[in-house]
Amino acid sequence: MALTAKQLKAHKDALAKLRAETLSKGAAKIEPNRTDEASSGVADEDAQALSEMLQAINSNRNAGQAQLVARIDKALRKIADDPEMVGLCEECEEPIPAARLKAVPYAQFCAACQSKRDPARGMARKKTTDFV
Ligand SMILES: [Zn+2]
Repeated sequence: MALTAKQLKAHKDALAKLRAETLSKGAAKIEPNRTDEASSGVADEDAQALSEMLQAINSNRNAGQAQLVARIDKALRKIADDPEMVGLCEECEEPIPAARLKAVPYAQFCAACQSKRDPARGMARKKTTDFV
């Protein structure tokens, strides 16, 4: 069952709002490497290592942000091009629960299909702890 015009409008507004919020956060600020030659030593090496680590984390975050905006754009395009499919899982074509759509307005799949498609998610999470 497709969303009603009213639901579709609310869904579109939620996506537009989320998109604006995501973009307003901007690219995470990346601190330049320390090039202060006057202060060298162990403490500075630590700071350098920390700075490099933060850059790695920030660049991951920026990639995640770009990916999120791309997914939101895709969802917005779907509302324009294929409104009768909005709110349906792209895999099993069952309606995505309203609560899930509200939490993840750019969701393409129901929770069951998402977890089937995304078995590596746990591994990705494990990777980020490699930084710590
Ligand atoms: Zn599904």
